[in-house]
Amino acid sequence: MTLISFLASFLPSGEIILQANYYGNGQSSTQMGGTVLIWILFGFIALAGWIVQAQLQSRFKKYSSLSLRNGMTGKDVAEKMLHDHGIYDVQVISTRGHLTDHYNPMNKTINLSEPVYSGTSVAAAAVAAHETGHAVQHAVSYAPLKMRSALVPVISATSRWVMWVILLGIIMLQTFPALLWVGIAMFALTTIFSFVTLPVEKNATNRALAWLSNAGITDVSNQSQAVDALRWAGYTYVVAALGSLATLIYYIMIALGSNRR
Ligand SMILES: [Zn+2]
Repeated sequence: MTLISFLASFLPSGEIILQANYYGNGQSSTQMGGTVLIWILFGFIALAGWIVQAQLQSRFKKYSSLSLRNGMTGKDVAEKMLHDHGIYDVQVISTRGHLTDHYNPMNKTINLSEPVYSGTSVAAAAVAAHETGHAVQHAVSYAPLKMRSALVPVISATSRWVMWVILLGIIMLQTFPALLWVGIAMFALTTIFSFVTLPVEKNATNRALAWLSNAGITDVSNQSQAVDALRWAGYTYVVAALGSLATLIYYIMIALGSNRR
């Protein structure tokens, strides 16, 4: 992924930026200062995101070529971790794509991408154990996971409309300012969701790393590689949460800016 396309993926939609600039014509100097600051913040977050992606890809490439000594595949690792935790009602299945690994609490399946499912590398074991960490969270009713799961239907219902409500809210900023605040409230839910995701991800990684070491899947020589791979994977969630927060602040600034005139 290039830096430019990564930047583009992070910023609010082009239409909204155009509208915001149009309404920004009568800005005071403090508002202008705030706008410059938020764009600098967007720039830093996009840069951090680009660095994290580049590091993540290079580390996964490196650790994907280092095999575990015991020859276990990602599937074997996930199943052993499940059984070690007394979980027998979760299935480990293979799913298409690259980096598509996830745990589905709806049908209790650990979905591993093909390179992870049949791979025997340190990276495959780390990813498989991380996803199994989510299955363990589900089994023990880990509170942040429950909260995150409760937000999923809300987010999927609002995500279809949020950008349209915000766009319309900006267009109707002078005549019907409440609409933009409705859009902001909807967007805030996705920001909350991305922050609730952070402890869930960190905890799944902690469970994975502790088990990999205790069960003897990794040894002193490759435990640090598993730690490193999952750490960089975790940073992608931090960058996404910060990007969401900056976007929320940006919309709030647009809404507040219209009140001052
Ligand atoms: Zn995860």
